[in-house]
Amino acid sequence: MPLIDTHCHLDFNAYDGLRDEIVAEAAASGVTRIINPGTDLDRSRAAIALAETYPGVYAAVGVHPNSTAGFSPAHLAALRDLAAHPKVVAVGEIGLDYYWDDSPKDVQWAAFEAQLDLAAALGLPVIIHNRDASDDVLAVLGAWAAALPAALRERPGVLHSFSAPQSAAERGLALGFYVGFTGPVTFKNADDLRHIAARVPADRLLVETDGPFLTPHPYRGRRPNRPAYVRFVAERLAALRAIPYDDFAAQTTANAERLFAHLGGA
Ligand SMILES: [Zn+2]
Repeated sequence: MPLIDTHCHLDFNAYDGLRDEIVAEAAASGVTRIINPGTDLDRSRAAIALAETYPGVYAAVGVHPNSTAGFSPAHLAALRDLAAHPKVVAVGEIGLDYYWDDSPKDVQWAAFEAQLDLAAALGLPVIIHNRDASDDVLAVLGAWAAALPAALRERPGVLHSFSAPQSAAERGLALGFYVGFTGPVTFKNADDLRHIAARVPADRLLVETDGPFLTPHPYRGRRPNRPAYVRFVAERLAALRAIPYDDFAAQTTANAERLFAHLGGA
């Protein structure tokens, strides 16, 4: 049963020299499509270049909160141009990160809002990064979602690699967001995260690797994480929710296709 790795940084240099092998391995294991999010302008261009190289790879374009220092209207204009590429399926990854202090909060906030507005103008969903910033992320998303055109209100985006409290998941779901889970949901000490994952409606779940990071059990700690390993995330979630693996895989694939409407066929 095919799966989509909805978030892998295939452009990162952790994959240099490995990409052909890793994309082929993924396809052979049923992971026929991979979404490569951008983290700054150069990385967004690199993601698009990989989407042009590999039929199953798609791109998102955006500036990650840790890279927002110096964010300007010129960045926004460049992102708008990049987003016109037919294999761009989302704006991301964007959001707020209060764990690292690479960029001041007010700068992160302004870049986040500007990119959300761009996504709304382009009719693209957003891929949201949130680290230790749940209240502010949900406040910004709440204001944004309220003003969305109807078509995007049903598929505004995903809270990617979810690692926040249950209340943040509930607030995001209430706004129409999907919730993406990564390797940590397979970790031995992750009962709290599994508790949250078990309560996300079946039609709002996504699976991702966030490669090269967050390698799931049983390969935890091994780098780089590989899109083929998204299967371990899906297997753990299917078991947790007590549904057959093939049904779960079909459901999350359908969810990804609904959210990222520009995804082409497998
Ligand atoms: Zn990421």
